[in-house]
Order: sequence, then structure tokens, then C-alpha cells
Amino acid sequence: MQKILKTLFLFFAIFSGITHASVEKTQSFEKTLSGVQSILYSVPIKARALLSELEKVELKQNQPLPLLVRYYLQKATVDLLLNDPESAITAANSGIELAKNDPLLKADLYLMQLRLGQARILQGEEALVLDQLDNLLSESKKLNNPSVTAEILLVKGEAYKAQNDYDVSMAAFMSSLEAAKATQDALLVERIASSLGGTLVKLNGFDKASLLLDKSYQFFRERKMSFNQLLVKLDMAELAKKQGDKKQALLEYKQALQIAQILGDGSHRFRINLQIADLLLQSGDTKSMARYLKQTDALRQRETIRYYISKYNYLKANQSLLSGNFQGAIDLVTPLITGQTELARLYRTEIDLYLVASKAHFGLGDYKNAYLTLLDYQNRFNNFSADEQVDNLERQQMLFNLEKLKAENQHLSWNNVLQTLELKTNEDKVEYLNVLVVAGVLATVVATLAALWINRRRARWGKIANTDSLTGLYNRRYLSSQLDILKSGMENDSDPVCCLLLDVDHFKKVNDTHGHPVGDKVLTGIAELFKNNLRRNDICSRVGGEEFMLLLPSSHLEQAQLIAEDLRTRISELSFMTEQGDEFSVTASFGVSAVDSNQSLSDIYSEVDKLLYRAKQNGRNRVESSGQNSSDNSTEQAAEDASSMSDKFSQLSRGMRRLKFRFAQHFS
Ligand code: GH3
Ligand code: MG
Ligand code: MG
Repeated sequence: MQKILKTLFLFFAIFSGITHASVEKTQSFEKTLSGVQSILYSVPIKARALLSELEKVELKQNQPLPLLVRYYLQKATVDLLLNDPESAITAANSGIELAKNDPLLKADLYLMQLRLGQARILQGEEALVLDQLDNLLSESKKLNNPSVTAEILLVKGEAYKAQNDYDVSMAAFMSSLEAAKATQDALLVERIASSLGGTLVKLNGFDKASLLLDKSYQFFRERKMSFNQLLVKLDMAELAKKQGDKKQALLEYKQALQIAQILGDGSHRFRINLQIADLLLQSGDTKSMARYLKQTDALRQRETIRYYISKYNYLKANQSLLSGNFQGAIDLVTPLITGQTELARLYRTEIDLYLVASKAHFGLGDYKNAYLTLLDYQNRFNNFSADEQVDNLERQQMLFNLEKLKAENQHLSWNNVLQTLELKTNEDKVEYLNVLVVAGVLATVVATLAALWINRRRARWGKIANTDSLTGLYNRRYLSSQLDILKSGMENDSDPVCCLLLDVDHFKKVNDTHGHPVGDKVLTGIAELFKNNLRRNDICSRVGGEEFMLLLPSSHLEQAQLIAEDLRTRISELSFMTEQGDEFSVTASFGVSAVDSNQSLSDIYSEVDKLLYRAKQNGRNRVESSGQNSSDNSTEQAAEDASSMSDKFSQLSRGMRRLKFRFAQHFS
């Protein structure tokens, strides 16, 4: 016995020794991870350095699973911030492998799956990622973790932004912000707000964008979060550019460049130098342009994103052209253009390479090739317009027309140029024609923006005009327009539609005893109940003071009766509060009828109104439908003549129902 105890003791001593040593290692690992977390977004380069230290020393020693998973999540996050999608994918996959079977690590698992999606977005596959994001979102909702939800929605917004679908992007950011509010995580909120600012820039919502971006910048500066400051500066530069303020845009980019230099962020330095060079090219300052472009040469190898590589090539080709090195420009551009044939989707600058080539041929006096290349350019340009995958059809149409116009202008003037120059080389004339083209394009852009703005306004006013301001339900005008749509569906595939009219019982008394504001609360409470209990395509409207009409598509009369019964019970179970804090409830009466495809709204209304009246006469808090003949027209007539008689009738029918119930109970 003693021997056994001794052995046990020995085991225990060894075991606790081991645990003690590993506890220390774990503590230091955990401490570093916490440190990394606090600087992840503000100084990602330093965060990455710390993480790679961990990898060298402590990762190999057995660390507990949750900490390892945290390590991989941070690694993937930081890789993404530093534009290294491949490393991010490796890290996220390692983490997912570890976390996938542990129910306690679900939040981390979702976030790492999210990082995978982000990496694919960086690689230009945002269209594929969007579906996965939706799945991830609905999966993660079960977790009820608002910060995971907010992160997913944030990425969703970025993905839509990358697809030029700015309306949806904005909606995603708004929902993300809504979720983030519950987390009390100020940094998360501000990250979302600054992303939203970026999308507003794209949507030409300049005032709001400027407000958001200024605020975010302030927030990040106070906390010395240089990396986020840099990102906001880039959006601010884009804002200035879109507003036509090139000087301000240059200023913002130059400030961004300073921050990138302090951060040692080569990838951003490359991009910002390119943006500055592009602006300088546009404003004709070719000498300064050359200076900034030179800065990018050494950093070129770090760039993996095609958009920026294309911009680099485009600027390089333009530089050759400007220095009169036509053959150099052709040599540079030709292999790039040849390579493009395999690319499904081209960036604007890639298409513009044809234009550069054409100008270079032109410069060499090779007019035939200049013209042929220009035709290629034009074809590409037209395809480019058709490729613009924008959900909003109207906008797509407008963009298409805009691009077509631009291409036509360019083509026309270039034909002129060529014609003119076959007779006499005249640089000034070329300049002049270019100015004309630019002016034409500008006029079209302005017209397009104005049209977009008007449409946006119209949509907003449209929404206001269609809804009831107290309850947010639709109003009668909207109901009537929807009825026409529903009826056309009925003719095609005989999809039945039912109509339901309800009126709150003795509502005047509610107002009289508790006051009008309390009455309003009853109305909004009932509207809320509809919103929560009806299907998405049911149309709920408020057609009078305390009278609501519902159109239920794809419903037979029996189903509509059941829905009405259900709503009737639910309304009677709602509890309202008076100003004195006393509880009270209300009831409502219902009329239900099936809609016939040749009925107008007023036909339908008068039919359900009669049924509703019957329900009132028959004692209120009940449903009457056109299918029932318990109380037919003659009863209704009688009721109109003598309400006392109908009261008796309803008492009688209530009595009958009670009897029936007892009968059923007795024999069951
Ligand atoms: P019944 O059971 O027969 O429907 O009785 P009732 O009292 O509901 O009938 P009546 O139609 O006479 O009263 C409707 C009242 O609804 C009158 C009006 O003061 C009130 N009302 C109408 N619109 C609003 C509104 O927007 N807010 C509030 N609080 N009350 C409203
Ligand atoms: Mg009423
Ligand atoms: Mg009424």
C-alpha cells in the first residue's frame, strides 16, 4: 500500500512540475497574443513581427488549443491588412483545422472562415465569396455574438464595394454598425464607420462621407492608430478627387504617403506613389510625375493586386510616350496587351494601354497600325461597358450609355486627328481636340450624376409617399398599386389572393379614457405585430384611423381565415400600458374575403367592409368571412334595422358555440 502511495506521489510531483513549466510558457504566449491584439489594426507590421517571433520560439511548444487558434486568427488578420492573401489563407486554414471540432471555439472558427473569404476578395474573387458570406452570416447568427455578426457584415460591405455595388455595400455597413453597437467595441464601430465613409464617397454622398471620415480620422489619431489613419486618408483623397479638387487630393495622398513611410508599409507606398503620379499626369506636371513613378520602381515586386500593377504599367507606358520614346512605349505595351486576351475582365487602365499603343504608332508615323489599334481599343471599350456588372439596371444602362458616348467621342475625334495628320502634323490641333473630348465627357458625367441624384431622391420620396408615418405600414395608395401587380399574377397562374380588413373595437373609448398618445401606441403595437407575424410578401397597410387592410398573396380563403383568427387572438393578448402604468388590452374585428381578379380595390373594400360590419354587429372580437353563411345578408339587414336583435343573435351563437364545445367534451 505504502509503495503504491509513494509511486502515486512521485507521479504527482513529476506531473505538477511539468504543468508548472508549461503554465509559465502558456502565460507568456498568452501575454504576447494580448499585446498583438491591442496593436493589430494600428501597427500591423509590428504585430506581424511579434507573431513571427512566437512562431519561432513558442508555437512549437505545446500550447492550449484556444491560444493556438487565437494565434492563427491574428496571423490571418494581420496578413490581410498587409495585403498578403496567400499567407492569410495558410494561417486561417491551420486555425480552422484546429478549431473545427471544438464547440467552444465557434466564434473563432467563423472569424477564420471570414478571413478566408477576405483573402479571396483580395484575390479578386468577390463574386464567389458573397454567397459563402451569407451562409456564414446565418450560421453565426445562431451564436448570437454581435461582434462576429458585425465583422461578417463589414466584410460583406467591402465585397459589394469591390463589385461596385455601392447601395448594397452601404446597407451591409449600416447593419454591421447596428450589430456593433451592442458590442461596446469603439474600435470596431469606428472601423465600420470609416468603411461606410469610403462607400459614401463612391455614392457621391460627399457631405456625409466627409463628416464620417473626419470623425474617424480624429478617433484614430487620438489613439495613434496610424494604419487606420492611413486608410481614412486614402478615402479622403478619393473624396477630394471625386469632387474635382485635385490639389486637395494631392495633399491627402502626400499625407498618406508620410504615414505609410513611418509605418514602413511598402505596399501602400507603392500604391500611393502611383495615385500621385496619376494625378500629376492628369494635370500635366510630367516632371513631378516622373519623380513619383521612380519611387514605385523599387517597390513594384511587392505588389500582387492586378489593379495596381495595371496602373503602374499604364503610367510607365505614358511616360515613354511623353518622352517621345515611341518604340519604347510599343515594346512595353505590346506584351501586356497580348497577355490581356486571357483575362476575363479588364480594368480601365488595361484597356487604355491600347490607346497608348495607338498614340505611339501614330508618333512613329505608322498611321495604319495607329488606326487598327484604335479600333481594338474601341472594341475593348465597348466590351468593358457591357462587363460592368451593376445590379441596379437603371444605373447600368446609364453607365453603358456614358461609356459608349465616351468611346464614340474618342473614336470620332481620333479619326479626325488621323485625317488631319495625314496631311499635316499639328500638335496643337490634337490638344484642342482632346480638350473637346474631355469637355464632352465631363458634360455627360455631370448629366449622369444629376440623373442618378434625381433617381435617388425619387426613390426616397417614393418610399415616404407609400408609407404611413405613424406605423410605417403601407398606405392605401401603395396597396392599390400592389393589388394590380397581384391580380396580373392571378391571371397567369391562378395564384389566389385574400383580403383582410380589421378595425379596433371601441377604439374611441381607448382614446377617451387613456388619451390620444396611448391610442397611438396601440396602433403602432398592432402594426409591429403584423410585421413580426406575417410573411414578407404579405402587404399590410393602414387604411383609416384604426383600420388596417392586409393583402395575402398565395392564400386560399381557409388559410386567410386561420391567419385572421390567429391575428385576432394575438391582438387580444397584446398588453398596453396607460400613462399611470396600468395594463389594458384591446380587441379587433375582422372581415375576410377572397379577391377576384376582376375586382377593383373599392369593390374589394366594400365586400370586406360589409363582413367587418357583420363582425361588429355579431359581438366584435371575431372574424367574419365570405365563406361563412352562418349570418347571411338577411341577418345583416336585420342587424342594420335593429341592433338589439343582432346582439341577441350573437349571444345565441356564442351560446351555441359553448354548447357545441360541451357536447364535444362530453363525447371525447
Ligand atoms: P368600433 O368598435 O365600432 O370600431 O368603435 P370605435 O370606437 O373604434 O369606432 P369609431 O370609428 O367611432 O372610433 C374611431 C376612433 O379612432 C375615432 C378617432 O378619435 C380615433 N382615431 C383615428 N385615427 C387615430 C390616430 O391616428 N390615433 C389615435 N390615437 N386615434 C385615432
Ligand atoms: Mg373601431
Ligand atoms: Mg373605424
